[in-house]
Amino acid sequence: MPDDLFLKIISREIPANIVYETDTIIAFDDIHPVAPVHVLIVPKEYIRTLNDIDEDHACVLGEMITAAQAIAREQGIAEDGYRLIVNCNEAGGQSVWHIHMHLMGGRRLNWPPG
Ligand code: 5GP
Repeated sequence: MPDDLFLKIISREIPANIVYETDTIIAFDDIHPVAPVHVLIVPKEYIRTLNDIDEDHACVLGEMITAAQAIAREQGIAEDGYRLIVNCNEAGGQSVWHIHMHLMGGRRLNWPPG
């Protein structure tokens, strides 16, 4: 298994403000938030990047969306709106090598992003 920051958060080796958890998904506040709500939604299964997703992962991707929906509702941003982003590889802005979805909201988000 790789030396993986998010696996360490899943195992509680590294602390995080966990806002949602199921058997398959964990979600916690980003340490450097770029919006009033900025949560990282992470599958507990190790998947390195979006490029490593195959048809067997359909379930876990669906669960990530369901988690985002629940957290957005819970944090009061569902109606105003929010953004989900998955960065893939260097040029896509990925810096942690365990797939994750950014849930951002709580302010008006610019589009297109930089
Ligand atoms: P990426 O750039 O891979 O799409 O997103 C990685 C995110 O992980 C970044 O937004 C970064 O702020 C966040 N992050 C990096 N290290 C930590 C940490 O130790 N704890 C938490 N909660 N977030 C982290």
